[in-house]
Amino acid sequence: MSNIREIALAPEGHQKIAWVEGHMPVLRSIREEFERDQPFAGKKIALSIHLEAKTAYLCKVLAAGGAQMYVTGSNPLSTQDDVAAALVEDGLTVCAWHNATPEEYRSHIRQTVSCGPDIVIDDGGDLVEMLHSQFPHLCEKVIGGCEETTTGVLRLRSMDRDGALKFPMIMVNDAQCKFLFDNRYGTGQSVWDGINRTTNLIVAGKTVVVCGYGWCGKGVAMRAKGLGAKVIVTEIDPIKAIEAIMDGFEVMPMLQAAAMGDFFVTVTGCRDVITKAHFEQMKDGAILCNAGHFDVEVDVAGLREMAVEIKEQRHNIVGYKLPNGRWLSVLAQGRLVNLASGDGHPAEIMDMSFAIQALSARWLVEKGATQKINQVPREIDEDVARRKLRFEGCDIDTLTPAQQQYLESWSVE
Ligand code: NAD
Ligand code: SAH
Repeated sequence: MSNIREIALAPEGHQKIAWVEGHMPVLRSIREEFERDQPFAGKKIALSIHLEAKTAYLCKVLAAGGAQMYVTGSNPLSTQDDVAAALVEDGLTVCAWHNATPEEYRSHIRQTVSCGPDIVIDDGGDLVEMLHSQFPHLCEKVIGGCEETTTGVLRLRSMDRDGALKFPMIMVNDAQCKFLFDNRYGTGQSVWDGINRTTNLIVAGKTVVVCGYGWCGKGVAMRAKGLGAKVIVTEIDPIKAIEAIMDGFEVMPMLQAAAMGDFFVTVTGCRDVITKAHFEQMKDGAILCNAGHFDVEVDVAGLREMAVEIKEQRHNIVGYKLPNGRWLSVLAQGRLVNLASGDGHPAEIMDMSFAIQALSARWLVEKGATQKINQVPREIDEDVARRKLRFEGCDIDTLTPAQQQYLESWSVE
């Protein structure tokens, strides 16, 4: 049974889903194949991904392939109630609402996994963790699952290392058609979309501190530069630090960067990246936000303890006045700013990420995985890239037999 906020919101949700569908040609082509082949006939899929329009379209594509869909969100702030309502009207089971309390959020995941899924699709690992900790008896039935993001992949690897993982998982995040585009270009654009629509402030001429120069950090830094900011990067990995320098950014420790930034964006997947010692150094009016998986990168609890005054400055912006008289502003409670304060990555990006999800789920059912941790098969990655190129109207060259032979030979003859 569904558990959503308000079914009357469905018309707005249908409109949002129709808009993204128009910009997701790769997934549309997969939908046609699923409708014809019914790969998920008789199968239950439990899915936990940010419940907004692009995710809803993925759910509809899987349902078109015969799946019974049980859907929840992967973050209390990114669920959109109108989209949830539209899916329920389309006959899917949805348990989620915007701004759920931590207890409600957990309870929505619990209601979703209790369907006894054959396949799970997760973003960050909360759904898989819940199945293992609270429904161990349901794990046996699970054919396998797919994980959407970097942090979820890390958690699964830890579970596997401890011998705890009970069914095979596919690391969707690690597919090239995922992280090269979603983490880099998707996060790069949607983080600035979230910051700009929340603050409505100029970025040009400001100093932006990007914490973490992984795939997401590269995108956020690149787009900050494009908007005219001076960009500082902080890192803990010496190789990534050199990469940032060669890409034209300044690199320094967080304590030093703290005094210089106008905007701070954390994208590390780590914890305690910006803490009390850093807040003390910051300029009056500094803006802090996070785009990494959990809300532990900026120590918002520590900031609350230090503050002599706290007030809501604007929707999704909370101001904290420090004993030194300076105000710091935190966006979206330190949760992912692009999803909690925006619509997340653009449709064309999620088209590729979710095409990998859909084809990986099909692969699990039809081929079956033999190991617990599985990479996305190379042919799926290439299939998605070729479809995307086709829809971009772009052709590429093919190796001639002589070129192929040249590349494979080791002899000088
Ligand atoms: P990544 O592993 O490629 O990069 C993380 C980087 O952070 C690494 O270079 C690492 O050395 C660095 N780092 C770790 N701890 C640090 C610290 N204390 N200080 C400075 N740097 C530190 O990962 P990624 O793919 O860029 O993902 C980063 C996070 O963003 C993950 O939590 C991931 O789940 C999340 N993510 C968010 C979105 C989004 O839409 N907001 C999209 C994709 C991924
Ligand atoms: N589950 C985490 C968040 C991980 S966010 C949480 O607790 O907040 C990172 C993932 O969100 C990325 O891997 C990306 O693929 C996904 N994402 C980004 N924009 C999205 C969108 N518009 N719709 C659905 N998922 C999105």
